[in-house]
Amino acid sequence: MAKRNLRIVRRERNVPVLGTCENCGAQFSGDPRMGNAQSAIQEAFNRHKCQSQGENAKAASQAPSK
Ligand SMILES: [Zn+2]
Repeated sequence: MAKRNLRIVRRERNVPVLGTCENCGAQFSGDPRMGNAQSAIQEAFNRHKCQSQGENAKAASQAPSK
């Protein structure tokens, strides 16, 4: 099992709102108004599957931008 690292890239008032996987670059956002943004980010991170780097880079943009 590959080791994955969650890195918090943005915080609002000490609450993490955006994290990224250091391994594949996937991003996870939380809503600070929910009060549990950190656990939401952590949970999404734990559940995600790392995209294989390079080979399938296009699939990394899995979030529909609409
Ligand atoms: Zn990943």
